[in-house]
Amino acid sequence: MSIFCRIDDKHVPLYRVLWVSATPHFCGGDHCQFEGRHEVALEGGDSVWASHEEQEQLLQRIEEWQQSQ
Ligand SMILES: [Zn+2]
Repeated sequence: MSIFCRIDDKHVPLYRVLWVSATPHFCGGDHCQFEGRHEVALEGGDSVWASHEEQEQLLQRIEEWQQSQ
């Protein structure tokens, strides 16, 4: 299996993911580009923003990756 998961058009290595927000982002900001997306925190302080579908896929991929260790 691939060690990468595609999130917001980026190939993110699964082992760099620290946490994934369970609820979608909401701040009400007029120009916010992340409304309804799930924050994915990465090692090093970066974040990427996953659609609901990408978030579900990411969690499933991490489970599978852990089980294959
Ligand atoms: Zn926002």
